[in-house]
Amino acid sequence: MSASQRYGAQNLLLRAFGDTIFVLLMRPLGTSIRRALCLFACLVPFFSAPLSAAQDEPPSPPLPVFEFHSGFWLNLHHTLYRIARSQRAGSSTANPAGSNTGIANLSPGEQRVWSAAISYYSKTYADNDITVSLEMMLIKNQLEDFETCADLAGNKKKSCDAGLPAKLTEALDGAASVYRARLWPEHDRANRRWISAVAPLVRRNGLDLAHRLAEIYQTNWPKDRIRVDVTASAGSTGAYTTLDPLRVTVSSADARNQGPEALEVLFHEASHGIADSVQDAIFRECRQREKPIPRDLWHALLFYTTGELIRPLALDSSGSPSASSPANSSSGYVPYAVREGLYKRGWENYLRLLTEYWQPYLDGRVTFDDAIAHMVSAL
Ligand SMILES: [Zn+2]
Repeated sequence: MSASQRYGAQNLLLRAFGDTIFVLLMRPLGTSIRRALCLFACLVPFFSAPLSAAQDEPPSPPLPVFEFHSGFWLNLHHTLYRIARSQRAGSSTANPAGSNTGIANLSPGEQRVWSAAISYYSKTYADNDITVSLEMMLIKNQLEDFETCADLAGNKKKSCDAGLPAKLTEALDGAASVYRARLWPEHDRANRRWISAVAPLVRRNGLDLAHRLAEIYQTNWPKDRIRVDVTASAGSTGAYTTLDPLRVTVSSADARNQGPEALEVLFHEASHGIADSVQDAIFRECRQREKPIPRDLWHALLFYTTGELIRPLALDSSGSPSASSPANSSSGYVPYAVREGLYKRGWENYLRLLTEYWQPYLDGRVTFDDAIAHMVSAL
C-alpha cells in the first residue's frame, strides 16, 4: 500500500513500506485542513520526553539515527483499529500481527467499555487507510506526543488534554484500563524485544547507512534522530511513514520486520523523507521527453537502493556482520522487494532498469542525473 498526499510547499506525504501499488495523490488540501494541522501542531503542548525503550535498564549511549518508542496510546489505537477492521472484514484472523487472546475472557464491565471502543472505531475509522488518511496521521502524531499521559482528557493532569475529538478521547480513555491489564504488557514486551534486537544493528551500521543514503539522494540526512514508534500492528504493510514531521511506525510482530531485515525496513521507511530528489528528477526527465510519469518507479528505486545497501551488511545469526561482500555475492541476504515479490507484481521492467542504469550510479560509475536520464529514456 502506500499513497501520498502532497500539498503546496508543505508536501505532506504519507507512504508505507511494502506497497505493490503506490498511488501518488496530488491533492491540494483546503485551508481549513491546513488550519487544523496548524492547530494540532501549534496549540497542543508537545511532550518531547521520549519513553525510552530502556527506561528501566542501565543507561546506554543513545542510538544514532533513530529514536525508538513503545507508546501506550498509539499501541491501543492501532489495536482498536486492527480489531475493528478485521471485524468489518468478517475475519477475526485478518491480521496475524495481533492476537486477541488477552481479551477473550473479559468481565461484563470490561466487555462493555471494550466493545464500545471497538464499535466506535468500526463506525469511524475502520474504512480509513491508516497509512494514507490525513485524519489517521494527525491522530497518530498526537497519540505519540501524549504517550506518557495517564489519560487523554487531561483529568489527572491538565497538560494531558490531547485535544482529540471528544468521542475518540472517550473511546480511548474507556478502553485504556482493559488494554493496560490485558494486552499492553505483552505488546510492550514484544516491542521492547524488537527494539533490543534491532538496536545493535542501528548502532553498528546506522550512521554509515544514513550518510550513504543522503549522498545517493543528494541531500542531507535529518539533523535530529528520526522517531520510530514500535507497535503490535501497523496496518497491512507492517510499517509506514508519515512526513512533516518525518516519523516511522513499525510493527514488532510482523514477520517481514524481523532479523537484519528490520534494518532494511527502517532505512527504507526513513528514505521516504529524503528522496524528493528522485521523484523530482524522474518527473523532470519525463516532462522533457514528453513521456508519461511511470507509476512507482521512484518507490521501486527506494526499495532497490536500500536493499543493495543492506545486502553487503548481511548478518549472521549471532548478529555479527559477515565479511563485507559485493552486492551480488552469496551473502544470503534477500532484499525486501525480492523477498516479498514486489518486482513480480508489475515492477518487472523497473528491476531491469534499476539493475542496468541505477546500479552504475550506486557503483560510482555515472552521475545521478545520467542514471535517471538513462532510466527514463529506456522506459
Ligand atoms: Zn515505501
